[in-house]
Amino acid sequence: MTKREDLRQILSPFLDRNLGFPLRPKLIPDLCSFSMPDGLGLQVRGSEKNFVLRGRLVETVMPWALLAVDGHSTIEELLRRRPADISAEDAAQAIFLAFRRGLLQDSENYEEPAQIPADATVKRQLLFWGRNLGSTRFNSTSGQVQSKLSGKKLVLIADGFLGAATFDILVRSCYTDIVLLEWASDQFLADTFSNTDFSNNLKMESLGRSLDQTAKRLRHWLPASDLLITATRNAPQLLFELINRECLAYQRKWLRGNDNGSSIEIGPYVDPFYSPCFACMIARQSCAIDQAIEEELYQVRLAETPGAEQLVGETIACASIGAGFLSAEATRILTEIHLPAFDGAVLSITNGGALDLNHFKRVPRCPECYKGGRCSISEQTLHVTI
Ligand SMILES: [Zn+2]
Repeated sequence: MTKREDLRQILSPFLDRNLGFPLRPKLIPDLCSFSMPDGLGLQVRGSEKNFVLRGRLVETVMPWALLAVDGHSTIEELLRRRPADISAEDAAQAIFLAFRRGLLQDSENYEEPAQIPADATVKRQLLFWGRNLGSTRFNSTSGQVQSKLSGKKLVLIADGFLGAATFDILVRSCYTDIVLLEWASDQFLADTFSNTDFSNNLKMESLGRSLDQTAKRLRHWLPASDLLITATRNAPQLLFELINRECLAYQRKWLRGNDNGSSIEIGPYVDPFYSPCFACMIARQSCAIDQAIEEELYQVRLAETPGAEQLVGETIACASIGAGFLSAEATRILTEIHLPAFDGAVLSITNGGALDLNHFKRVPRCPECYKGGRCSISEQTLHVTI
């Protein structure tokens, strides 16, 4: 085998498009890595999990590899420029190990991401995205993640402190295209954000606690949206059932958050027909909770009375915890930087500070999201002759 064929063989794994290896790899900034004494290895902190790299390659080749990946050279150019005492196989293995552990990103568009104002908030977020690119590898640069925030269309059905805090965090996180639909009729959000500029891509409307009005506005805004979020306070189950139906009909993703007065519920995240929906959750919940009948009666009362005058008390601190969970999950869903955490799951955050995460599975033949009825083959034709 000639030297050229040898190098081509070593390079072949890097050229697999499914691998997503960076064209011009660059060491991710803001990671903390250092060689520990006495051969204990290279400690890396700051990515999704802290880890230690050990072994011959880490001691002999990795120091060169981490300096060599400067964002200006392709993998082939890097291997050709390696020191004489490092073999091509070892150099390739060290660079591949660094990539596999999430230490490398593509240099393209990183330095000055187009259309992203580089203020202090954006700079810090870019560094954070960079450290987490290796989690899913859906994005090759941190600028790509950041640009998704302003490029996605959100619909937020909001009420009270939870709704206000969620809207506030989303806007501060650089989401610029949000339709804020105030669920309650007390105008709390309208008063809170009276100084906010609701022109351009920030819009605000009132739903006046009306299911008919909600259905009407959802049919207007949902078709063009990327994600619907609810951040409500003591909202009736009927509202979530309506949202679930509309989102399934328009095949739009939605994330539920609701403060029920005793705890804030985060989840489920519903990706229509791919994850369990809200109806699946209710079917499971009614089999599992101790007071299913009492809950049903409360929901009837909640739907039939205005309700806004009850369970009004709340704190900014508790609401901000829920808003943080909702905003972080929205970013996981929309940027794919991490996998969603509340797909088929509901997190309860009690007023006392306890966290309780419950998972539920898709209910067989859920009346809302079961797709079996679309099969056009008659059951009578499915006879098998042996
Ligand atoms: Zn379902």
